Amino acid sequence: MTEMTDFQKKITENLPEITLRLHEPMAKHTSFRIGGPAHVMAFPKNESELAQILQVSDLLDIDWVILGAGTNVLAPDEGLDRLVICLKDCMDGIEQLDDTTIRVAAGVTMTRAAVFAANLGLSGMEFAHGIPGTVGGGVYMNAGAYGGEIKDICTAVSVMDRKGNIRRVSGEQMGFSYRHSILEETGQIVVAAEFTLEKADAAAVKERMQELAEKRRASQPLNLPSAGSAFKRPAGGYAAALIDQNGLKGFQVGGAAISEKHAGFVVNLGGASAQDVKTLLTQVSDRVFENTGIRLEPEVRIW
Ligand SMILES: Cc1cc2nc3c(=O)[nH]c(=O)nc-3n(C[C@H](O)[C@H](O)[C@H](O)COP(=O)(O)OP(=O)(O)OC[C@H]3O[C@@H](n4cnc5c(N)ncnc54)[C@H](O)[C@@H]3O)c2cc1C
Repeated sequence: MTEMTDFQKKITENLPEITLRLHEPMAKHTSFRIGGPAHVMAFPKNESELAQILQVSDLLDIDWVILGAGTNVLAPDEGLDRLVICLKDCMDGIEQLDDTTIRVAAGVTMTRAAVFAANLGLSGMEFAHGIPGTVGGGVYMNAGAYGGEIKDICTAVSVMDRKGNIRRVSGEQMGFSYRHSILEETGQIVVAAEFTLEKADAAAVKERMQELAEKRRASQPLNLPSAGSAFKRPAGGYAAALIDQNGLKGFQVGGAAISEKHAGFVVNLGGASAQDVKTLLTQVSDRVFENTGIRLEPEVRIW
């Protein structure tokens, strides 16, 4: 067995009750299927365990990062010597608060939350059904698709600060803009979000979700590992169209390539490294900039 580093000892000795995994491959937890081992990964089951992890980290000066479903993260090949706190499936629970509002824990997938809303005959979350991340990641990123965005439906968020204190903030206070929320600046963690929806016919809501799922299947390379759209939408255009117009469909660096099916997606053809993806992103962005003067910025979070 590999010997424990001081960093690993410090965490395991101080958090004996928390589920921890050592040398956990990030590739197992990211939709790109890329990333070396996290020295320690923690799986808090609830808010109190998460608070405990943050308090111990604060006391011992341990650097941490939050992971949802890993569907918008490019993790480094060499691994991470930080504590990775994984919330997917750990911070669980959905409840109906009133006729039109549901409260969803951060680790629940957006698909599950959308299905829950549909079963109650609530409309507004259909767009989120095919986004493969967690509610925490979706709120952090202000995820969106097919004309809908988290900011349209999110009326309140429970956030935890670095000391483990929870505060409920309104949707307006979240500073939502395109693929951005104020959490990028504050470093707070989403523990749950409230979505206010509209009463509708459950069958119609489900039909709309089916329709969007079919659109996705027809246009996106869902059979290959990726992190969805690799670039943010630039002002006045679409990243996929610019990449396609510059003849970059299929452009490949190592095991990473611009999808032949959807030029906005970078896919892992097998054995791609994080370095392959980063080089590809830079080369594509440079080529588009040289030809159009438009600079494409990565949407995927590069750790
Ligand atoms: C096939 C495919 C299709 C996609 N389609 C779309 C789409 O249509 N629209 C869209 O917007 N995105 C899309 N994505 C990207 C991705 O699913 C979203 O950005 C999603 O919101 C990320 O959620 P996550 O839980 O996977 O976050 P992660 O990838 O785990 O993390 C992303 C960022 O959020 C932070 N974070 C995660 N959870 C929390 C939390 N609880 N509190 C604070 N910070 C947190 C992380 O630290 C990280 O910086 C797609 C991805 C794939 C693979």
